Amino acid sequence: MWNGDAWLEKLYEEAIARHRRQAKVDLSNERRPKLKAALREAIGSFEPNPGFVPRLLERVECDGYVRERVELSATPELTFAAYVLLPKDAEGLLPGVLALHGHGYGSREIVGLLPDGSPDEGVPGIHQHFAVQLVKRGLAVIAPDVIGFGERKLLADLASKKETPSSCHKLSTQLMMLGKTLTGLRVTEALKAFNYLASRPDVDGSRIGTMGFSGGGLIGYVAAVMEARIKAVVLTGFTNTFKESIFAVNHCIDNYTPGLLEHAELPELISLIAPRPLFLESGERDPIFPVEGFRRASAQIEAFYEAAGAGGRVEADVFPGKHEIGGRKAYDWLKETLASL
Ligand SMILES: [Zn+2]
Repeated sequence: MWNGDAWLEKLYEEAIARHRRQAKVDLSNERRPKLKAALREAIGSFEPNPGFVPRLLERVECDGYVRERVELSATPELTFAAYVLLPKDAEGLLPGVLALHGHGYGSREIVGLLPDGSPDEGVPGIHQHFAVQLVKRGLAVIAPDVIGFGERKLLADLASKKETPSSCHKLSTQLMMLGKTLTGLRVTEALKAFNYLASRPDVDGSRIGTMGFSGGGLIGYVAAVMEARIKAVVLTGFTNTFKESIFAVNHCIDNYTPGLLEHAELPELISLIAPRPLFLESGERDPIFPVEGFRRASAQIEAFYEAAGAGGRVEADVFPGKHEIGGRKAYDWLKETLASL
């Protein structure tokens, strides 16, 4: 009798049971560093490029802020650009945010620009121009171009007459065949952008957070686990269990990391950010990161925070919306949390 569905469910339950057993065997102060090392190993590593000197590409005066574009590189022969938004008339060193977009046309989508670089005067899309929302609250924002989108698609996708949303598939599959992942590359580049922001003379490197939406939430949580100087984290349109999101819905292949379920489910991995403050947000009608999974994952993350001695540092908001940024509490939470450090 065909029972593939039940067999797959059994594999999942066995993995969860192994996590529980391991959590009992390990002393609590052992499990977290072990999981962090396992996550680092699973996403793969990339050769660093420490000699690359950042280059200013443009500087534009905007309403209430300045928008710079800089060129950076995290690994040899691969450069990327990032927008840096700086509030005007701010006093003292600026708190900062690493702003990470999800699937779409790239960083322009979050800094209020259309794909061709002209101003987007219309109603914002699901990314809600969130980097602009943050700079208007007095935060210095860096928004790197995530590889695989916009100008950073592969040549065949850039040349295609059909609208190709991303180059995630080709990038992910080849990297996985080399024991690496697209998540690993994206996190490496995001951390380079973080380091650049933290090293700027106008920014307070001890008060930088991150905000990531959807695929940018994936990059943001892993970057925060790897980099303790990221002091506050907002994840929107992402937090869930693997079971109820990327196993239940056909997601882009960049969401899947070989071997990771051997170590932990997503809520426990996200909780490696503890004790740093964490804000979780989800639309109540999000079809690809469903709200039931969000609620379950949020409760588990809160419990893991509690166990790590950081109870009360997780906040969550379910807003009336779909797969999009809500922002009704998240932007101010990030501003106030960074201000209180
Ligand atoms: Zn993708």
